Amino acid sequence: MKNWSGNLQWTPSSIAYPETELAIQQLVQKAKRENRKIRMIGTGHSFTPLSKTEDILVSLDEYQGLISVDKEKDQATVKAGTKLHLLGSLLFEQGLAMENMGDIDRQSIAGTISTGTHGTGIQFGTISTQVKAIRFVNGLGELVDCSKEENPDLFKAAQLSLGALGIITEITLQCIPAYKLELINEKRKLSEVLDHYQQINQENRNFEFYWFPMTEYVMTKTSNLASGKADKVGLSTFFQEYVLENMAFKLLCEYAYYFPKKNKWVSDFSAKAVGRSRKVYQSHKVYATPRLVKFNEMEYNVPMEAYEEVMKEIVKCISKNKFPVHFPIENRFVKQDDIYLSPAYGRNSAYIACHVYYKKPYKAYFKALEDIFKSFDGRPHWGKLHTLNTKDLQERYPKYTTFLKCREEQDPDEIFISPYLKSLFY
Ligand SMILES: Cc1cc2nc3c(=O)[nH]c(=O)nc-3n(C[C@H](O)[C@H](O)[C@H](O)COP(=O)(O)OP(=O)(O)OC[C@H]3O[C@@H](n4cnc5c(N)ncnc54)[C@H](O)[C@@H]3O)c2cc1C
Repeated sequence: MKNWSGNLQWTPSSIAYPETELAIQQLVQKAKRENRKIRMIGTGHSFTPLSKTEDILVSLDEYQGLISVDKEKDQATVKAGTKLHLLGSLLFEQGLAMENMGDIDRQSIAGTISTGTHGTGIQFGTISTQVKAIRFVNGLGELVDCSKEENPDLFKAAQLSLGALGIITEITLQCIPAYKLELINEKRKLSEVLDHYQQINQENRNFEFYWFPMTEYVMTKTSNLASGKADKVGLSTFFQEYVLENMAFKLLCEYAYYFPKKNKWVSDFSAKAVGRSRKVYQSHKVYATPRLVKFNEMEYNVPMEAYEEVMKEIVKCISKNKFPVHFPIENRFVKQDDIYLSPAYGRNSAYIACHVYYKKPYKAYFKALEDIFKSFDGRPHWGKLHTLNTKDLQERYPKYTTFLKCREEQDPDEIFISPYLKSLFY
């Protein structure tokens, strides 16, 4: 097995693809009897070894689709292995959509919520906040249901659980009626955006931007509800999204890889290439962009109040250390929530993500930025690279101990505990 970027490889003793909830339950019961360990994988889009195991790996690739739809409440219950791109189409057929999504739609819904995957937009929480109810098979082989009404404390643990409570089988999502978005990409100055990011956040439904390292420029992406006709996805969209943002970018990454002194040139060139573009389409097709260039990534959540200062420190740090990087740094904004392991627990937040082309070393660069994040009470994205241990995490997550108590109750025999989870929990 290997994950998306290829920074992790491992050999499970077996891989199970159960097709029914009963089969999932029997699998856990058998593992318990035989004293085996289980880890789950969605689509392997995490950079941290959350799915790594030398024992049983469980994939719900054969357990996808809609289970039921409550049209009055705009809620949909889905099988946990459902991939987001399939989910988007299935919901759209029902006249529904997710209220917000991240950058891509390749992940499974269970994997998405289990690491706190998020999009951007200050009126929206992480995707875990869209969850109304969860059903999972715990380490005792029991089916457990939880929601705000039923087992509410356990629910706050299950909304983002790193696969540590058991195998999620069903997820009920609060959706909204299907909608279109108008996305506008444009070039702006970093200083201007840092001066006005709060206002831009207030004035736009979804706002994020990418800073090109060692330049003054950013590409902003703003999306707002649109009522007009959806664009035709024709050659020009293909050219922008596939040729410019992926194929040409891949060539630039290779160039900077072979000629490290050219990183600044590549960053300048990429910034210059940003023009204004506009797209109107169904929401689930607007959030998702193709990501064909592989990279490794670290992303931290910082309190909104500290955001501007953190970003300024990062700019200084990159310029001082002259790191050979050109991949844009992504900045997103997310509303606070009350989920125990959510990086946005109890605070409106900014997320800052740094990427490095997958062939290049990243440790020195990530360490320098991680030191900055840590000094501003940063909390790592669970699916992205970080070096925090149990003590560090306990200091940053006010409900860490509460989560660990829930975990112990649901999986007392530690069927779902791997060496990596041990390094986070013990
Ligand atoms: C190109 C790319 C773009 C990305 N964009 C974003 C983004 O925009 N926003 C963002 O926040 N993140 C983003 N990520 C990170 C990604 O969304 C998360 O790492 C997410 O967890 C991946 O989902 P997955 O289905 O691949 O899960 P995996 O990485 O396979 O698994 C993640 C976790 O979920 C657990 N899990 C999987 N299935 C189950 C189940 N049935 N029951 C219980 N636990 C389960 C696994 O054990 C593991 O702990 C991106 C990653 C990549 C590579």
